[in-house]
Amino acid sequence: MSRPNILFIMSDDHASHAMSCYGSRINQTPNLDRIANDGMILQNCFCVNSICTPSRANILTGKHSHLNGVKTLGDPLDGRKPNVAKMLQAGGYQTAMVGKWHLGHGGNADPTGFDYWNVLPGQGSYYDPVMIEESGRSQHDGYATDIITDFSLDWLKDRDRDKPFFLMSHHKAPHRPWDSDEKHLHMFADEDVPMPDNFFDDYANRSNAAKEAKMRVFGHMNNRDLKIDKFGPPPEGLSEKELANWQYQRYIKEYLRCVASIDDNVGRLLDYLDEDGVADDTMVIYTSDQGFFLGDHGWYDKRFMYEESLRMPFIVRYPRAIGAGSSTHALSLNIDFAETWLDYAGLDIPEDMQGRSLRPVLEGNVPDDWRESMYYRYWMHLSHHYVPAHYGIRTHRYKLIYYYGEALGTSGSIDEPKEPEWELFDLEKDPNEMCSVYDDPEYADVVKELTAELYRLKEEAMDDE
Ligand code: CA
Repeated sequence: MSRPNILFIMSDDHASHAMSCYGSRINQTPNLDRIANDGMILQNCFCVNSICTPSRANILTGKHSHLNGVKTLGDPLDGRKPNVAKMLQAGGYQTAMVGKWHLGHGGNADPTGFDYWNVLPGQGSYYDPVMIEESGRSQHDGYATDIITDFSLDWLKDRDRDKPFFLMSHHKAPHRPWDSDEKHLHMFADEDVPMPDNFFDDYANRSNAAKEAKMRVFGHMNNRDLKIDKFGPPPEGLSEKELANWQYQRYIKEYLRCVASIDDNVGRLLDYLDEDGVADDTMVIYTSDQGFFLGDHGWYDKRFMYEESLRMPFIVRYPRAIGAGSSTHALSLNIDFAETWLDYAGLDIPEDMQGRSLRPVLEGNVPDDWRESMYYRYWMHLSHHYVPAHYGIRTHRYKLIYYYGEALGTSGSIDEPKEPEWELFDLEKDPNEMCSVYDDPEYADVVKELTAELYRLKEEAMDDE
């Protein structure tokens, strides 16, 4: 079998519960569903550090944050070090990176391993974005999601057809501040999007971390988030509950409109592969750098190890090897992606990568010794949204989280010690993580077992901080 082309489409902050192939109750994503229907849907794909910049570095290096040097939003990725694009390029792939890079710029932080790159500076803009190429900066008229797809298509059309390609097409959307395009401006105008059941969470039976986090849709959003200038202020005379719903609608509708534009643009890429006759030879992946709270627990944003934030959407189509309409619950991680691509490319996987190739999982043969637990760590103590640093472990049934209460000198953290605290969730009985059972005597053995496994994984990951 010849080596597949790899089209890796990644958005920013797109939670899987806003994709119809994952059973969304709030929107439809017909083009993303094309990928899932013709390929595999990963039900348990997780990031190892739920924040934009670190997840991108995890993906490119196949390593945890403490080893690749990108623990926080402010850490650039050192382009002199190995990354999967360099390996694929050296192994005969033509490589490109278009869209949101978010791993620093200039010096050693520009993208490396790519024959072509054209990226947004930092977070980039939704409208008329500036983009940076090796030759310099230029501004482009239009909407970022369309423009990133345009440049991706231009590169595909001009590619060297003697080589397989590796294209990373990375969207800014649907990252805050959620600016829809004109085409979708009135989507959902005459309807209310359903609220999550736990929107009015009171954070009882959980850590102080959850109670103190400043990421509530009703309470911590600013006028820019709520599009007061764009769509006007709330009607007068609303009750508190009505105002909360009004704010949720403002938030979720703009978010979902941004997602709709991504879906349209993914459709353009899929159509191109069909027209070009390479759909069967191309592995198409759609994912997001992490999940997001869509009003779940009353929140927006990510960072926490809770499900909505930890979980990444991951759908993949490669007709030559992956069965149509397939699905897996195997625990999969963003540090697995690089090894998966190298495996399919027939290239050596470096010993120091810390994930595992997903190839057998994608092909329906989960190895007997596949992982039964995963290690997570968020480093940015109390900065933005007041979420404390924590590490933890998730198995198929349980999640154990330790908020260790210290900044440990991590860049961008706030040096304010907190009382350490633990949480344990039984995901079978409590999938929405509403009640920590850490202190419940019935779970004493589980706590003991998971704590031992947590520190085994931490050591295995070579995290000694
Ligand atoms: Ca993100």
